[in-house]
Order: sequence, then C-alpha cells, then structure tokens
Amino acid sequence: MASKRNMMRQYELVERVRRYNPHADEELLDRAYVYAMRAHGAQMRASGDPFFSHPLEVAAILTDLKLDDATIVAAVLHDTIEDTDSTREEIDRVFGPDIGRLVEGLTKLKRLDLVSKRAVQAENFRKLLLAIAADVRVLLVKLADRLHNMRTLHFMPPEKQQRIAEETLDIYAPLAGRMGMQTMRDELEELAFRHLMPQAAVTIKTRLDELREKNGKIIASVEQELRDELSARGIEASVEGRQKLPYSIWRKMERKSIAFEQLSDIFGFRVCVNKVEDCYRVIGVVHTKWPSVPGRFKDYISTPKENDYRSIHTTVVGPGRQRVELQVRTHDMNDVARYGIAAHALYKDGRVADREALSRESRAYQWLQRTIDLLAEGDSPEEFLEHTKLELFPDQVFCFTPKGVLIALPRGATPIDFAYAVHTDVGNSAVGAKINGRIAPLGSQLENGDEVEIVRAEGQVPPAVWEKLVVTGKARAAIRRATRDAVKMQYINLGRQIVTRAFERAAKPYAEDKLKAALPRLARAGVEDVLAAVGRGEIYSGDVVKAVYPDFSEDRKPGAQPPRPEGEDGWFGLPKAESLVFKFPGRGEQDALPIHGLSGDLPVRFAPNGGAVPGDRIVAILTPGKEITIYPIQSPDLTAFDDQPERWLDVRWDLEAGQKRFFPARILVTAINEPGTLGTIATVIGDMGANIDTIAINIISPDFREMIIDIEIADLKHLNGVVTELRTKPVVSKVERVNG
Ligand code: MN
Repeated sequence: MASKRNMMRQYELVERVRRYNPHADEELLDRAYVYAMRAHGAQMRASGDPFFSHPLEVAAILTDLKLDDATIVAAVLHDTIEDTDSTREEIDRVFGPDIGRLVEGLTKLKRLDLVSKRAVQAENFRKLLLAIAADVRVLLVKLADRLHNMRTLHFMPPEKQQRIAEETLDIYAPLAGRMGMQTMRDELEELAFRHLMPQAAVTIKTRLDELREKNGKIIASVEQELRDELSARGIEASVEGRQKLPYSIWRKMERKSIAFEQLSDIFGFRVCVNKVEDCYRVIGVVHTKWPSVPGRFKDYISTPKENDYRSIHTTVVGPGRQRVELQVRTHDMNDVARYGIAAHALYKDGRVADREALSRESRAYQWLQRTIDLLAEGDSPEEFLEHTKLELFPDQVFCFTPKGVLIALPRGATPIDFAYAVHTDVGNSAVGAKINGRIAPLGSQLENGDEVEIVRAEGQVPPAVWEKLVVTGKARAAIRRATRDAVKMQYINLGRQIVTRAFERAAKPYAEDKLKAALPRLARAGVEDVLAAVGRGEIYSGDVVKAVYPDFSEDRKPGAQPPRPEGEDGWFGLPKAESLVFKFPGRGEQDALPIHGLSGDLPVRFAPNGGAVPGDRIVAILTPGKEITIYPIQSPDLTAFDDQPERWLDVRWDLEAGQKRFFPARILVTAINEPGTLGTIATVIGDMGANIDTIAINIISPDFREMIIDIEIADLKHLNGVVTELRTKPVVSKVERVNG
C-alpha cells in the first residue's frame, strides 16, 4: 500500500526531534511509537490509511514547533485512551503520570448525559480549557490534532466536513490566534474557508494570483529598495514581501463591506531586525523615504496585543503611489508572532509546566486563566462556550480610565463592558458614562484611545437588557448573575408572604428553623430555595405546611389532588372571592421630583391610582395648604377637578440625559389561574429591569385572576416594553395600563 510506505518510521520520528533537541530521550520516543502502533492495531482512517499514521502526523507537526519530548510522546499517544483499550492507569504506568495527564486532557468526555450535540460540544470544550489551564501543552497537541484532521478533511462525508470546518473556524482557529499561534491559525482558517465557502475561496485565490503576476516586479523592487536603504544605514535586517491570505481578505471584505478592488493593503512587507531599538530606526528610515498614511501607525511593541503579539505597523505610499503595509519587529518577536505560546522560551529549557512563570510572562496565558475563572461563575456550558467564542476574536480596542489605566476590550465593547472590566461593583452600579469628557449612552461602541468615566449610583440592579449591549463574557456573566439574584430576591419575598399566610390559615406556628428541618422532604437545599420555589409557583404552600407538620391535613375531600388549577382554592390556596395584596420592599422615597414648574414647599406626590412616568404629558393639581399631585393628562381622576381651574398647575418633566430614575405606574393583568403564572409575570417584569412595588390579586372567576400591579419604571417606553412583553406570555390574557 502506497500510504503505508509513506508513514513515518520509528527512526524518522527520533531524527526529527534530534534535529532541534540533541538530548531527546530516544528510548521514550521509541516506546511511545511501539505502544501506540500496537494499541491502534488495524484501525483505519477515512482516507484508507492506517489510523496510526494520524498520531504520527500530529507529532510531526509538533516537531516543527520544536516541542519537548513529553509533548511529542503525548501527541503519539493522544487518541489511545479515547479510541483503543488503553487506560489512563496504563499510560501512567508505562510513561509516567506527567504524560498520562497530558493524554487524558486530550481525551473527550464520553457518554455525556446531555441533551443536545451543542451541550456535548460545550462540555468537551470546557474540559479541554481546564486541561489547557493545567498544562498548555494540551492545547498545542489539540491544535496539531485539529490541523491534521483539517488537512485530511476531504476524506470525510460532506456533512461531517461542514461541521468540523465550522467548529474549526468558530473555536480552534480563534483559540490558536488568541494564544498568538498565527501560523497555525492561518492554516486552520484557510482549510476551513475552502470547505465552507469553496466558490469564494477559489475566486479570491484566482484574483490574488492575477495580482501577483501584475505586481510581482513592484514587490521585488520595493523589497530591494528597502534592503539597500537599511544596509546603507548599517541596520542588519531581513525583508520579506508577502501577500494576504484568501480568508483574511474575505473577512476584511465582509467586515468593511467592500469589494476586492477597494482593498488597499493586499501586499505587505515584514522587516525583521536583531534589536528592539533597530525597529524604531527602521521606521525612521521608512518614514523619511516615503510619506506615511495617517492613522495607520501602530506600536504594538510598547503596547503588546493581548496574545503577546509585538510589532510596529505602518503604511506608506510607496513607488507607483502604491500603498505598502509594513510590519517591523525583532526576530524573537517574529517567533512569538508566528508560534505564540509555543515559542515561549519556557518550552526550550524544560520548565514547560511552570504555570507561575507563564502567567507572569504571557498575556495570552493570563487571558486563558481569566477565561477559566469564568467557568467557576456557574454558567451553563453552552453560555460559557458563547462567552468564550466572543472573547476569542483578537480584535481589540484599548481604552483608558480617567487615571490613565489601560483597559483592553474586544471590538464592539460598550461602556458597560468597560465598567465590568474595571470591577464588577463598578459595572453593577453604573448609571451613565462619559466618553472623552462627554456624556454618552451606555450602549455606545468604544473606540481605540477613548477615555471612559463611569457614572455610578448605589443600590441599583443592572437591567437585564444590558446583556444585549455587552460583548465581554465577564460583563454578561455578572449582569446575568445580578439580575438572577434580584429576581430570586423578589420570589423569596413573595414566597415568604405566601408561606406565612398558609401557616396562619393552618393555625400552625411558622419559623424558618422549623422549615429548615423539613428541607429534605421538600427536596430543596435551603429555606430560601423553598420560598423562591413557592414564589415561582413550583411548590404549593400547603405542601410546605405538610412538610413541617406531617400530620396536618387540609380540610379537603379525601383523595383530592393538590388544588392547583382547581377553581375552589386556586392560587396558593386562596379562598374564593378574596383579594390578596403583596407589598414588596420598594426603592424608598424619591428625593426631589424631576418636575419643572413647581414652586413653594408643599409635598409633591404622584397620582395614587396609577402614577405618572416620563413620556406622559403631566399636569399638577394643587390642594391648597396640603399637597401637589402629579397626574398624567389621560387620568380619568382629573375630571373631578374640571370645575376648579385655579387648582391646575402647568408642569413638565425635567430630566437630565443619562439619569436613571424610577417612577410609579400601574398595570392591570388578567391571567390564567395556574401555578407559575405569578412567577412568569414577576419574571418578565424583573427581567425587563422594572421593579414590582405591590401586587393585588382579585379572583374574578375560578379560572382567571386579575392582578393590579404597581411597578416602578424608567419611562413610558420602558412601560410599553413591559406591557408588550407580558402580552407575549401564553398565561396572560390581557394587559393594560391603569390611569387612576
Ligand atoms: Mn486525533
């Protein structure tokens, strides 16, 4: 078989390693070769090659990165635990626990009890990241594994090709980029691009070839001119002209919505020198010789990218008015730019697993650590994958605090992301932002170099809609947590009132420590969980009484089911024809109302039956010697004052931009009487960033309940949003605003 002849031999593997590491452990490499060959036995690849050719190719890719023996051995063994009878214990015994750990980190989780393919993918990704955090060599083997699979992807069935190429473009290529491994990233992207968009890939490739044909001479002459110029000034440098790759061109066309013809920097030159100061000398020479294009000078040497990339970029107008992009860096920087974390000197002196040194010296590794920390914040694996995917893209904006601290954020980040990047507390208490000294919406996109000042106010909950305004995983996780906590608090308060009432009805004493003893019977971890579950309608309050007093029996027909959807006792055991009012802890009294046109020192309040919110046209009614009341113009209560024109005051809202305050409004919700209805309604209101003040429930029929809900809301638009959102819920039959 031809392919068998091409498979790497045992001595070839050793030779490849010996070429860069004369002290390589030949015996260990041989042992791995023989072990993996036997383990994989007669297994075949989709290509018809023996399976064993795959781990060997993966190892070969890693010898190009000049990696240590353990990594090469792990590459040879990487599919043994997953695909053969080998076990971690056996690998440990034969190769030692260090290599055993590496191989296990590369083994996918099996038999995951998860519903969707996506959940499985997310869980495996999470496991991979944890293994990488423990030892970065896991990532290097994983990427080499993916690279070889991508190189041989055409042997796979088409739908598998599609899925693997997508995953590569979504996760592995950006991950390689994030770790600074540009060469790896480029090849992964190009291969995936060819599989996902074959037509586009071919078209761009053809046009690039045409251009090269046309401009080849110019490139050679610019190269020569640069070399001469630099050597005349005694700067030792290597100069290399290069053409952008099809996928990076396609991405640029897509991002900027431009045509191929409009791309200005398809050609670039890379100048590598020996010392950092030479980089700046090269820039001096280039800028003296050719005019530079404004706004294109970037110094990633003084401010490295988050993936440790360092280089100086500039664009000049070269010969023939051609725009020429230049990257200037030292040879060491060039190694890091191409091989990223794999180029890290630490690999070369055998201290690979020294996490402390890595986290000190590599920003890419620091990012990895922060990402792992997010894992601990309790998101589901899918959410986590989503966050990580967003953060993988290396496009960055660099912003500053008023004190000049640099905050690096992904492109598209907003002041909310900025606030959370500074500190979770800053994010949670943000109410406004100043960008370069001017008040700006919290949803504005930040630009490079922006100075951002966050305006804060204590005691607020970040609105759930912020989640749509942020791009960083940290902000999203924190917002989700804060709103989740706030919503849970509301359920707990609601549940506590319902439970207290149920105990009163049962004439049994209630105390939370009694409930604590009954937790196992309710299958909940804590008292607050029980209260929240009652508030959400997941547990019937009568069952809580029974859990605490097992011999208590409700006065009900024998054998009757818990009375949930029944008319008789409907919600939370409410007797017929009764009303129930829940009062929630409010935000407290507002200080001076932001209303223009008031004078004197009479107390001012909002219309008691319905309130008024910014966006409403308002009038004030004076009760001499007593108070001033603000009504929305549509309030039917105003008819009472029709014949007393002297009591009407002309007022209007007086709100500062960016200021966020809450105002009372009342809504009437008619909903189906079933468990969970109140929870659904409270969730919508909470998720929309509004606050429930009071809920009064009236029983209007066995199947329907009418709720008068007093809420606190930012303005009319906010209120309309809540009303619309409530109307989308199947349990809600009618929602309207009430005006006194
Ligand atoms: Mn593999």
